[in-house]
Amino acid sequence: MDLKSKLLDKKQELEEVIAQKKDDLMIPVTESTDELSMYDQHPADAASDLYEREKDAGLLELMELELQKTNDALARYDRGQYYICKSCGKAIEPKRLERLLNTTLCIECARKAQDDFIRPAEEDITFPGAMSDRGETLEIAGYDLYDSDN
Ligand SMILES: [Zn+2]
Repeated sequence: MDLKSKLLDKKQELEEVIAQKKDDLMIPVTESTDELSMYDQHPADAASDLYEREKDAGLLELMELELQKTNDALARYDRGQYYICKSCGKAIEPKRLERLLNTTLCIECARKAQDDFIRPAEEDITFPGAMSDRGETLEIAGYDLYDSDN
């Protein structure tokens, strides 16, 4: 499967999950609990229900961000810029793109960025089993010693 098909799959999957989550969140609080009125409800129950909703809303926000990145990646693909690092203009490693479909940075630039953002949230959510970029960098450094100055 080529990377564009993978991107389209990911886009579709995200859109479905987001639509489902939005449906869930649309249900008013009073209908999602068995209580007819909020006044009769134990305050702690209402609080934990609210907490669950806020957690869901936070997750939804992250998924929408992920979808936006995927759409951006598709747009870059169509412009022929998908394989080009947004930061330094060099080619992004194909293996890296396969693993992180909507990445915009090559390994070197991602590693620099990670000094500011310890781990991008996108990698935790969509690729729970993925290697860290740091590990991959070590692997690359092993057979590309000329460019490695650290
Ligand atoms: Zn770069």
